[in-house]
Amino acid sequence: AIDQDYALVGEGLTKVFGGFAAVKDVNLAVRRGSIHALIGPNGAGKTTCFNLLTKTLSPTKGRILLNGVDISRLRTAEVARRGLVRSFQISAIFPNLTVLENVRVALQASYGTGYHFWRSLRAVAPLNRRAEELLEQVGIVESRGTTAAELSYGKKRALEIATTLALEPEVMLLDEPTAGMGHEDVEPITELIRKVAVGRTVLLVEHNLSVVSNLCDRITVLQHGEVLAEGTYEQVSNDERVVEAYMGG
Ligand code: ADP
Repeated sequence: AIDQDYALVGEGLTKVFGGFAAVKDVNLAVRRGSIHALIGPNGAGKTTCFNLLTKTLSPTKGRILLNGVDISRLRTAEVARRGLVRSFQISAIFPNLTVLENVRVALQASYGTGYHFWRSLRAVAPLNRRAEELLEQVGIVESRGTTAAELSYGKKRALEIATTLALEPEVMLLDEPTAGMGHEDVEPITELIRKVAVGRTVLLVEHNLSVVSNLCDRITVLQHGEVLAEGTYEQVSNDERVVEAYMGG
């Protein structure tokens, strides 16, 4: 059944800004356990679509299903509790806190209002242990005592992924994870996404097509706010309309 196969579905998504439709009747189905990319030329509607799916924007028309449940009317925090988490959702990284403290804050946020019950000295130890586990997963545990401001760009991104993992996402949405990265950071972050995607569903907006071809099972190509093509990298990269959209603009 469709609910079991697809973790996240956008149905007929439309977003109009002052008379201009940035996204028009977009249908998008993200298969459970897959890594799915949203690509397209500048202005294609990727960010708007992403913001609709993460509930950062409300659609003018259409609906969003998470595990078959309509989440269109739910707030971001409620959606996060149901397992749909956008990277950098909690906040940006706090530059003056250490790496470990940043993850601890994220864990505390994910435990929400119930956390005050645990705010005793004794409860800090398990939080620290969990934070260290997450830092180990993303490969920066040796930087635990460093302030976030001192991290390299690549390690900051890894820290952002650790804070996202703190919310225990079932569906993770990553907004241009390699944006602004030098060549040397792209490969490690790609491997990290592959690793944290195990047992999860991931949707990402990504400009770097070699990352998309390396990482993603399915690709949806947007152009002028509409779905131009959908399929494997092989399929969409051989689609004449896609080639034209990228070459001809
Ligand atoms: P992409 O991420 O693919 O570059 P966007 O989703 O950012 O595309 O934008 C798609 C179109 O919608 C663009 O033409 C952009 O100018 C327009 N747009 C995006 N956000 C707004 C907004 N808040 N108000 C008006 N127009 C917007």
